[in-house]
Amino acid sequence: MTMHGFATRAIHAGQDPDPTTGSVIVPIHATSTYAQDGVGGLREGYEYSRTGNPTRTALETCLASLERGKHGRAFSSGMAATDAALRAMCRPGDHVVIPNDAYGGTFRLIDKVLSVWGVEHTPVALSDVDAVRAAIRPTTKVVWVETPTNPLLNIADIASLAQVAHSAGARLVVDNTFASPYLQSPLDLGADVVLHSTTKYIGGHSDVVGGALITSDDELNAQFGFLQNGAGGVPGPFDAYLTLRGLKTLELRMEKHSDNAELVVQALLRHPKVKTVLYPGLPEHPGHEVAAKQMKRFGGMISFTVEGGEQAALDVCSRTKLFTLAESLGGVESLIEHPGRMTHASTAGSLLQVPDDLVRISVGIESGEDLVEDLVTALG
Ligand SMILES: *Cc1c(COP(=O)(O)O)cnc(C)c1O
Repeated sequence: MTMHGFATRAIHAGQDPDPTTGSVIVPIHATSTYAQDGVGGLREGYEYSRTGNPTRTALETCLASLERGKHGRAFSSGMAATDAALRAMCRPGDHVVIPNDAYGGTFRLIDKVLSVWGVEHTPVALSDVDAVRAAIRPTTKVVWVETPTNPLLNIADIASLAQVAHSAGARLVVDNTFASPYLQSPLDLGADVVLHSTTKYIGGHSDVVGGALITSDDELNAQFGFLQNGAGGVPGPFDAYLTLRGLKTLELRMEKHSDNAELVVQALLRHPKVKTVLYPGLPEHPGHEVAAKQMKRFGGMISFTVEGGEQAALDVCSRTKLFTLAESLGGVESLIEHPGRMTHASTAGSLLQVPDDLVRISVGIESGEDLVEDLVTALG
């Protein structure tokens, strides 16, 4: 079968019709265990659903194909995937370089959970390759990258950081949640592991929480599989089905998210109450050149600051009607939030604290003109 195109792989990779029934859609294998033909006689390698489940396998195969990797591993959330990745690669005394505007939950896991187990970290502005090189220690095992970052939409040069990490004997992990595999392929740029919160663009419909790790490294893949089974942070078959169902339309959705975001960015730039617009698609964005090199388009996430400080930012968030005030991102519906009080509240008082007049929006795939009108009205 020819499966070169992204959309073809999203719809077919790992998803052949069921050999027994012809079911076109991968069945939801709602079972915890599998009959054996004599002791150890496993039919398709399945013995217990924490270890493996055919619906989950379909999702993992499809994700590996979309990220252009050999192996995919699905987890019960993005944080479960993050935890498994770091536990596979770090031991007490090891060190991790993380973005200085990392996703709040990633920072919390590293700062509050893994630190107790002796894993150290240094937050760095990843757009500064020299700063990353300077932060690396002999014990550094992982350089953790988000690009674009959340919520400041900073851009990191994946290919350059892969070189820096590898020359120090460390691995490069890219949290590709914001870009999605349609807009950016970190493994092709030298990353060792790609992480997703599949809760976001991959699921795409705000109806399921999940995570994934994709790698072409056989040994890392074996460790991720060991941790799926050994620590148990796996998705159930219904979650895997919902994620696969969303994944089929990823290309169409990312194109529309990007179209709508471009419309919204132009409207925000024209608005007198808006101070700055952060969007990597803007030529004046400091990371634009790198983003244009490593991304197909610039996606649906926009952050902006407003005149009038924190209260003005909170007011905008509570006045929109189409943009729902909620955490999370990447769904078909538009969302708005105040990172300082919501998604990034756990970074308050740390180096990773975000500006209090910052608003983050996840631009959905509704009619673009309606989204612009809603924001312009809310800004007043
Ligand atoms: C949401 C998110 C996560 C965590 O994923 P969950 O599915 O919520 O556990 C990690 N990284 C980024 C960039 C995210 O947006």
